[in-house]
Amino acid sequence: MADSPKVRVRFAPSPTGQLHVGNARTALFNWLFARQHGGTNILRIEDTDVERSEARYEDQLISDLKWLGLDWDEGPDVGGESGPYRQSDRMQLYHDYAERLLKEGKAYLCFCSAEGLEADRKRAMAEHTSPIYSGKCRAIDPAESQKRRANGEAAAIRLRIPERPIKFHDIVHGDVEFSNEVVSDPIIVRSSGMPVYNYVVVIDDAEMKITHVIRGDDHLSNTPKQVALYEALGWPVPEFAHLSTILGADRERLSKRHGATSIANFRAMGVLPEALVNYLALLGWAPTGGTRETFTPQELVKEFSLERVTPSPAVFDMQKLYWLNRHYIAQSSPERIMDLATPFFAKAGYVPAQLDASAREWLGKVVALVVPSVDKLEDLPQRAEMIFRYDAQAAIAAPDNAEVLSAEKTNAVIAAFAKKVEAETGPISAERFKAIVNEVKTETGAKGKELFHPIRVVITGSHSGPEFDKLIPIIETGSALNLPSHVLSVRERVGKFKSLNRG
Ligand code: GLU
Repeated sequence: MADSPKVRVRFAPSPTGQLHVGNARTALFNWLFARQHGGTNILRIEDTDVERSEARYEDQLISDLKWLGLDWDEGPDVGGESGPYRQSDRMQLYHDYAERLLKEGKAYLCFCSAEGLEADRKRAMAEHTSPIYSGKCRAIDPAESQKRRANGEAAAIRLRIPERPIKFHDIVHGDVEFSNEVVSDPIIVRSSGMPVYNYVVVIDDAEMKITHVIRGDDHLSNTPKQVALYEALGWPVPEFAHLSTILGADRERLSKRHGATSIANFRAMGVLPEALVNYLALLGWAPTGGTRETFTPQELVKEFSLERVTPSPAVFDMQKLYWLNRHYIAQSSPERIMDLATPFFAKAGYVPAQLDASAREWLGKVVALVVPSVDKLEDLPQRAEMIFRYDAQAAIAAPDNAEVLSAEKTNAVIAAFAKKVEAETGPISAERFKAIVNEVKTETGAKGKELFHPIRVVITGSHSGPEFDKLIPIIETGSALNLPSHVLSVRERVGKFKSLNRG
């Protein structure tokens, strides 16, 4: 099926803060749509809010988008035929079109002071009417207003909204209609000379030949102003697709209050980009038929459709994101997981930032041991704590261990076990360990839990944990490595436990 005209979409963030899930989803849907239609994806930086825009946020934004695996064909960093791609570099264009609108009578100069407008607004609020512009300057003769402006009087530029409802079609919301009264005559250029978002966005989208505007539905109420501008300029109106609001579990709009919401947060937590992309795709979109939930980016490109985006709010479900993350962690190569996991262990002070070959091989085993039980890589060091930190005192004091430690056969098991471990001369292999436990079993008559739980408490500080077969060699090999926090061997653990007068 040939698409005509050729699809051109844009993601247009303001560099005023971190990239959040809402905007990241907008970026993803634009990317999916562009790639599916063999179209052009554009990154445009909306930095007209000079006070709040910062270059570092633009850098971070670009790095977060790349981390998610998204790319663009035109943008501030890659150039392109419809640049420049930062609004701050397009001021002349906005100025020129504003003058054209004035000349054609589609816009007019407004001399109302900020104080006067504020008073009008307050009055409207008090009277419970919509705070719309009175239209005071609408009727001033253009020649007269040009003269006043030339004489230095501060003037904003307002768009003349036609006296009829403004209608447009939205792929997600269907036919939308706003009354012209609600829209009133919006300011397009402030008296300071600064053009406003609703105006520049239209100039840019038209100049960049955007065919589909895909963005958050917080902009739905801005759209009639923008449609009126397209009409005033005699330009074709693009297709719109406004994506639903994202809510937290409490059904309030998702915000920092809900915890991690920025892409940087998820990245720092050890969420894999493919898990996040997969999750974001399902926020307000569902594939045709079926309940399938895991998709590679290529599969998403194939399956995605704006027609299947729902207008109802999407609830951000952290558990589902974790479920996807566990899925993608399990699918990843151990090398990749190791590369991503090492900084978390280094940060915990467990390993140096640079690992030599033997330390890397060893840490790989630690990671493999505990990774099936984590939602995110950040949790790995804590899950592996029994390897890196051993605290016999805490093990003895832990209420959770009280039952095990007071069981009938416990003292006998610990005493027999300690004696055998102390008699060992070298590192204890998994096989040797098994043999020791069997000997303890025969000597004490303890079996099952009454045998294993006390031994576990002595070695790990807890009566539950990973299989001994895997754990013992890790502990023994780790104790021979030169790590910032020494890993205690089985013998050393037994020694500490005994010194606290158990067994
Ligand atoms: N800079 C606007 C925002 O970040 C872009 C809105 C749009 O896509 O038109 O919300």
